[in-house]
Amino acid sequence: MTSHEIRQAFLDFFKSKGHLIVPSAPLVAKNDPTLMFNNSGMAQFKDFFLGNGTPPSKRIADTQKCLRVSGKHNDLEDVGFDTYHHTMFEMLGNWSFGDYFKKEALAWSWELLTEVYKLPKERIYVSVFKGDEKDGVPFDQEAWDIWKEMVGEDRIILGNKKDNFWEMGDTGPCGPCSEIHIDLRDQAEVDAKSGKELVNADHPQVVEIWNNVFMQFERKADGSLISLPSKHVDTGMGFERLCMAIQGKKSNYDTDIFQNTIQVIEKMCGKKYGVNGTLNTTDYTDIAMRVIADHLRAVSFAIADGQLPSNAKAGYVIRRILRRAIRYGYSYLGFTEPFMSQLVPVLAEQFKDVFPELKAQEDFVTRVVNEEEKSFLRTLEAGIKRFEIISAQTPAGGIINGETVFELSDTFGFPVDLTALLAKEKGYKIDEAGYEKALAEQKNRSRQDAAKEATDWVEVSEGGDFEFLGYDTLEANAQIVKYRKV
Ligand code: ATP
Ligand code: MG
Ligand code: MG
Ligand code: MG
Repeated sequence: MTSHEIRQAFLDFFKSKGHLIVPSAPLVAKNDPTLMFNNSGMAQFKDFFLGNGTPPSKRIADTQKCLRVSGKHNDLEDVGFDTYHHTMFEMLGNWSFGDYFKKEALAWSWELLTEVYKLPKERIYVSVFKGDEKDGVPFDQEAWDIWKEMVGEDRIILGNKKDNFWEMGDTGPCGPCSEIHIDLRDQAEVDAKSGKELVNADHPQVVEIWNNVFMQFERKADGSLISLPSKHVDTGMGFERLCMAIQGKKSNYDTDIFQNTIQVIEKMCGKKYGVNGTLNTTDYTDIAMRVIADHLRAVSFAIADGQLPSNAKAGYVIRRILRRAIRYGYSYLGFTEPFMSQLVPVLAEQFKDVFPELKAQEDFVTRVVNEEEKSFLRTLEAGIKRFEIISAQTPAGGIINGETVFELSDTFGFPVDLTALLAKEKGYKIDEAGYEKALAEQKNRSRQDAAKEATDWVEVSEGGDFEFLGYDTLEANAQIVKYRKV
């Protein structure tokens, strides 16, 4: 099955079970001060669970664009270095708002995986919440009993609060979850060690694909737990991981979702992906291609959803992701000219039927990415040279001082996490406290300057010669590129 068919089969399946199919909410979370980006399928339905609104149907299903690069869920550092965490990914989900509960939800997930997708039953493990006495939450006997009938006791794992209990916050709706994991290792490896021992152990081929959350309690301010009169189901399945399993691959990047982009990157840089196997997580050519194929999606869809790269908040997160990708392309694939922008049309074409917002704004997104690339590539080389000089003076395993981290950010536009990444590659750490101090001092200075200046903007008039000075990474929404007339 192609990824398109896999997605469609999910939606068709839940439609046949009486679900209303709705579009994905934008990547950028709207009207939710606690969330920068949508990081799960349920985010757009939060109000329904809190009783602050009525859903258009008691049964809903969709595919939601998610971004996990900030806050509680931040997978950014893993991306490229593993084969199954992305910044942006699709989360397939089905919901019951006070309608069906565990019996139907678990039976349908089993039916879909094993009968529609025909995944091998003997490669599937499920987890059930084992209870937590201290916290007053009971063992999920109900889920255990349902799974026992379908998968058998020996495939059920008991999970702790960290993996198998969901809560929105210190108070509010909460409940146990039941995860579904799949073992994609070769048979010889399976024979040598049971997949059961590898569940939730960060093995790249024994991965969690689906989480079924059962909201059945409410935590009160005094810590007590009451049963909710109306119980809800919230599920989330990682689409890219599901495609990996169905397409018989061992890495998300080997599916048709990413292969398309990777092949274009290969052509553009003249290097091959996966020369030593596509599961290699130490080869920087491969890491760079995975990072670019991944970050391209996050950046393009975020811009299409209205989040332009900028110097503040969500915009700065997008700029950081883009710069991270540009730096990988520059250092490991030899790109010295804009390349991400050339990939936007490839992505837009691939997703035109699922998320048409990108195709509809293809030119605009391409232009934004291109401008960002051009401006960052102008200082990237000089910044890397500066970093090399400093690191040559730093003893092995040492710390890059805060002033340098600040200089790289202020003059060369290197986000702190990018400098931290460069440092890590060489076995250094960065002095974050020192950086914060330098930043605070600079803020102070510019506050004093701002009192003197009439505008944030430095006009660059036609015809004159200007020397590029760097970026002002400080003031929210201020002009970022600084020039001086020469
Ligand atoms: P993991 O333990 O692998 O980090 P999770 O427990 O954080 O996953 P959930 O919050 O339960 O994930 O999200 C539901 C599903 O979304 C997961 O079962 C997984 O298939 C998928 N998923 C979660 N994070 C990512 C990611 N960064 N990239 C791709 N898929 C993801
Ligand atoms: Mg996670
Ligand atoms: Mg997990
Ligand atoms: Mg989970």
